[in-house]
Amino acid sequence: MNDVRALDLPFLGAERVLACGVVPVEGGVALVDPGPSTVLPALEDGLGALGHGLGDVRALLLTHIHLDHAGATGTLVRRLGVPVWVHEVGARHLARPEKLIASATRLYGDRMDELWGAFEAVPEASLRPLAGGEAVEVGGRALDVAYTPGHAVHHVAYFDRATATAFVGDTVGMTAPPSERVLPVTPPPDVDLEAWPASLDRIAAWEPERLFRMHWGASETPAADLAAFRTALDAWAARVRADRADADADRGHQAAAFSSEILSGLDADLGAEAAAPYRALLYPDASWHGLARALR
Ligand SMILES: [Zn+2]
Repeated sequence: MNDVRALDLPFLGAERVLACGVVPVEGGVALVDPGPSTVLPALEDGLGALGHGLGDVRALLLTHIHLDHAGATGTLVRRLGVPVWVHEVGARHLARPEKLIASATRLYGDRMDELWGAFEAVPEASLRPLAGGEAVEVGGRALDVAYTPGHAVHHVAYFDRATATAFVGDTVGMTAPPSERVLPVTPPPDVDLEAWPASLDRIAAWEPERLFRMHWGASETPAADLAAFRTALDAWAARVRADRADADADRGHQAAAFSSEILSGLDADLGAEAAAPYRALLYPDASWHGLARALR
């Protein structure tokens, strides 16, 4: 039985942009990627609709610590005192978030508060650092951990054996049902194009029956998604590589041109309504810069 639930966390009014994974465990639930603190009320409401309260949360499992995935972690730990599973590099930043906040502020500037809200440090005693290769046990439920760099150097994925669900964070890009279009998300600063294919191989080796993405929810076509993602990532990397070969070009203009091509292509292919969740999240100009940095 597939008892894993996708909890939609409307983000700036947009649905199907952020999905927290809710995994039933003994005595409550574990949450995979709780989201930013701006969506905490939605998280609480959503848990209520599933018959749970915040007090039923037994553990947080983070795929990585970017603010859209993990911004509320410190606030939740302060309120609930639950353990937090996270890659060891991410754990250091959660304990001392100054660098993470500075890096995000370079990307989002004065929209930080509106987008993400408070970001509180996580006490070291609550952190359960991972390297990849472990099996974690949360309330009688076993999840395997794989180190999956590519989107971020501190990225892990989890495999819930009971449902053959792979929680892949942003390692297999984003999608926005009902559209099945899979697109990469490659913001600066630590995209790794050399490590990424092996991360996809690790996920494929689990032979998952479904992928669960924060953006957005469960996909029942893991093999097709993995293939589509590899193709899209290769295409984006080839495009940015070609842009960079033009030594005299203005990088900002190249990123802007890439962005408007991607977004207008989505509008044309999917229609404005179906393209809206992609627009809310993608920022292809940031992905251009993330790839350019990786290719330097
Ligand atoms: Zn994300």
